[in-house]
Amino acid sequence: EEYHNLFDKDLTSHDYTLGAATGNHGAGTAKQLIGEALKSRVEAIDQDTCDVGDEDAFFVADLGEVYRQHLRWKKNLARVKPHYAVKCNPDPQVLRLLAELGLGFDCASKNEIETVLKMGVDASRIIYAQPCKTKSYVRYAAQSGVKQMTFDNADELYKTKQLFPHAELYLRILTDDSASLCRLSQKFGASLDTTAELLELAKKLELNVVGVAFHVGSGASDPKAFLKAVQDARFVFDQAAALGFHMHTLDVGGGFTGDQSFETMAAVLSASLDAYFPPHIRVIGEPGRYYVSTAFTLACHVIARRTVADATLGTTSYMLYLNDGVYGNFSSIIFDHQNPVPRVLKSGAAVLYDVRRSGYDTPSQIEYSVWGPTCDGIDVISSSCMFPEIVDVGDWLYFEDMGAYTKCSATRFNGFTDSHDVLYVCSEPGARALLGL
Ligand code: PLP
Repeated sequence: EEYHNLFDKDLTSHDYTLGAATGNHGAGTAKQLIGEALKSRVEAIDQDTCDVGDEDAFFVADLGEVYRQHLRWKKNLARVKPHYAVKCNPDPQVLRLLAELGLGFDCASKNEIETVLKMGVDASRIIYAQPCKTKSYVRYAAQSGVKQMTFDNADELYKTKQLFPHAELYLRILTDDSASLCRLSQKFGASLDTTAELLELAKKLELNVVGVAFHVGSGASDPKAFLKAVQDARFVFDQAAALGFHMHTLDVGGGFTGDQSFETMAAVLSASLDAYFPPHIRVIGEPGRYYVSTAFTLACHVIARRTVADATLGTTSYMLYLNDGVYGNFSSIIFDHQNPVPRVLKSGAAVLYDVRRSGYDTPSQIEYSVWGPTCDGIDVISSSCMFPEIVDVGDWLYFEDMGAYTKCSATRFNGFTDSHDVLYVCSEPGARALLGL
């Protein structure tokens, strides 16, 4: 099948050592490409004469980083076929690359399903992984041939019986998500004392339950959560078998971060899968953050500054106002509990991106707080950070690791734009070839 052929094909990486990976822009050349893109864009903008919005915040996305994350996934979780969670960052080039790499897609709404289908991805590669679905969306999924979907309650089973009786259903079970950044289990997941009843109802309604799904919470940090969830899934597979279902797929959800904890998490998950599920059971996952977090860098313009002089202490600090904030791409601070780290991209005439790494050791530190552009006091990006240099109106800051749950949840509050340019670079020849770049 096309999907498996794509997924199984050998991929190579030119400037990245798998295994030594931290997930953070492993390659020097990647840094260089990102730096050049940032630099040429900001140097081309004259804030005193530019058109309205020309100095808006913008992203640089390294598609090579997405590609490397995929290689890292295949190396560490070979058994788990990833279905990228579109909600995390529906960037069209990212989706295109992941489609070329043979991934499946986890969609949460009609629009997401439509976006993926329009790219030419077969409906069999999509899972509508939302246990509480809109009726008209279920009809759309049925018409489009998107059969795989999750459920976790009886009402959803009646809905499915009415609208899509031949759907391939996954019973989403509750997990211990207490060690994750974004908890999902207060909203979704059937507890193990309800799964027998749900399976019996599905049997009575003659519905097709093909597997179990779980999600240990987004930004998970405790590998034991995966072990426990896999054990619970085994319990439900056995319950289903006793009722005459032939479950064939386990969906291990998302929750993986792109940092160095991935290898540990993946090792525990792989071992648990091998201990509890024989090889003929197909295993899929729904990673979002893991694939895109480190691939996007955001550059923001300093639109205003306030000097704060403390007469008692004899100190001076500055409040910097940027043209992006928590109602925009920094929505990740509110919804995703992130603390993006500001760094100076351009101060005066100097573009500092390339020297930044060593710059922080400079002893003469100046304190700043960093704010978004709206009139709301909640719109703060960093309440205190130190730079060695003076940052003024017209300068630029940048933030790394801005690919996950950022622009997808930006608003237009106060009339600011929610659509920011993305400049693409690609630090991996393999990815360039796949995309025809
Ligand atoms: N699958 C489902 C059902 C989700 O709700 C989410 C995130 O909320 C994801 C996958 C992606 O999670 P992550 O970005 O942590 O991998």
